[in-house]
Amino acid sequence: MPELPEMETYRRLLQERIGGRSITATLVQREKTINLPPNEWNRILLGNRITLVDRRAKHLLFHLESSHVLLLHLMLGGFLYYGSTEDKLDRTAQVTISFDDHILYFHGLRLGYLHLLTTWQLDERLDPLGPEPLDPSFTLTRFTELLTEKRGILKTALVDQHWLSGIGNCYSDEICFDAAILPTRRIPELTDEEIKQLFHSMQAVLKEAIQFGGYMEPPFYRDDDLTGGFNDRCRVYDRGGEPCVRCGKLISKGKLSSRKVFACTNCQH
Ligand SMILES: [Zn+2]
Repeated sequence: MPELPEMETYRRLLQERIGGRSITATLVQREKTINLPPNEWNRILLGNRITLVDRRAKHLLFHLESSHVLLLHLMLGGFLYYGSTEDKLDRTAQVTISFDDHILYFHGLRLGYLHLLTTWQLDERLDPLGPEPLDPSFTLTRFTELLTEKRGILKTALVDQHWLSGIGNCYSDEICFDAAILPTRRIPELTDEEIKQLFHSMQAVLKEAIQFGGYMEPPFYRDDDLTGGFNDRCRVYDRGGEPCVRCGKLISKGKLSSRKVFACTNCQH
């Protein structure tokens, strides 16, 4: 599932391409993906201009001139493609939104959604989310405060969107590896030094992942050489049985509730 760096990569690529542009056509192939009757959804979107593409947690927000917002969550299996009808992918898009001769394709939205909301509805939907880890106001002091309120396992906390938003299965493992701390550690047992290291690793890993286009591989447009560039830079995620880049011992793959956990049990403590 795409996490903060993947959605931030999409946000930057989309803002460059559709920011300020007007919607010239829409097509809904799967009505369950949207939240209004297709006619009404189309009526509001047609001719409407995208004023800003923003991100909150794992969501993308397409702000519209009419003050409505399209809220996208890709969930598991969803991805975006942008191009002309000639270079589109050979697979079904659940929704397409056209900007003259260029089309934004929403693929794999079986669980994901694209909801058209008023700003009031949007605030209500985003209100339960925890803070953004890369927000300048999210400091080590704030992170430490959050951790002191939390019991249980570190990884479970890191992926809890109500506690801290944007981090999921991949980056929770990558952050813990970078910090040399096991994701299965109990939060109350973390030392001040470890909390400080975790905070710095969180910033470093997320920023590096954004710089390299996240780990999700489907290209966003033809000749896209950015999207998915972090996949080869993942140190532990989906690398069970491979040698650790830090110590050479094999990465272990475990389970925590229903989640996969990847870690080096030799150099993470
Ligand atoms: Zn190791």
